[in-house]
Order: sequence, then structure tokens, then C-alpha cells
Amino acid sequence: MTLELLWSKLASIEAKSGMLCGRTGKCNADCCRPSIMGGEPGVTPPEIALINGFLAKQRSFRFYEAGQDGCKFLGKNGLCRIYPVRPIDCRVHFCKDDSLQSQANPEMANLVAEYHSRHETAFMATELLDSFRFLGEQ
Ligand code: SF4
Ligand code: SF4
Repeated sequence: MTLELLWSKLASIEAKSGMLCGRTGKCNADCCRPSIMGGEPGVTPPEIALINGFLAKQRSFRFYEAGQDGCKFLGKNGLCRIYPVRPIDCRVHFCKDDSLQSQANPEMANLVAEYHSRHETAFMATELLDSFRFLGEQ
């Protein structure tokens, strides 16, 4: 299964299940703020390659537009600036409630587990999004 196929399958599960973020308060894209979220997404080499390809097509890309406490790809408007190529970890998190805990979705979890088992080498080389230096990043 390619990464693009996985993304498309995840999107169709999301659409079918009508999964929506379940936070009642102002979310302020807290899932994209590692200091609030208590962790950050991982990225595998194939994801890094696609993100770098996306960045290569931008005239100039400003990292950390939303400040140092946010993900380097978070925009000032609270939206992901690499949305079409965002990592798998970002595609499967939907707050269940104000605790920021993720809603359980076994169908999504199984699909991601299947993808990881088929791409074990890439999965083993997972980097943390914030630690990895992407194309054009100082
Ligand atoms: S996952 Fe949570 S923090 Fe992120 S956009 Fe949805 S409600 Fe907001
Ligand atoms: S890559 Fe995008 S969706 Fe993922 S944490 Fe960063 S801003 Fe949020």
C-alpha cells in the first residue's frame, strides 16, 4: 500500500464515520502545539520525502509561523500549512473531548498498523517532526 493510498483510505473512513473533533471549547489547534499536546507527531522517511517535495514547490516557506510553541508547520491562522502531505499521526487524531484524548477508531488503527507492518524499515526510522530539519529549514 502506498502512502497516498493509505491517506485516501483514512479520508474515506473519516468521511464515512462522520468523525469530528469533539472539543467543546475553543480548540486553538492545540493538537498542533506539542507543549499543550504533550507530544509531537512522528514522520517516516517516505513522509519526509513528500513533505520536502511539497516545500520545494513553495516560493518561500516560513517555519514556526504560529510561534515556537506550535508545530513548525502551523500557520498563524491555526491551519496546517502542509495539509495535503501532513503525517499519518496528524490524520488520525480527533479529540474525543476537552482532555485532547484521541477518539478510538479501530478501522483507522488497523489500517495504520497494516501499513506500518508492510513498511517496517521506514517505520523503524521514524523521526520526531520538530527535531527533523526539513528542506529550507535552518
Ligand atoms: S483535534 Fe482537537 S485540538 Fe485539534 S483541531 Fe480537533 S478539536 Fe482542535
Ligand atoms: S503537520 Fe500540520 S497537522 Fe500536523 S501537527 Fe503540524 S500543523 Fe498540525
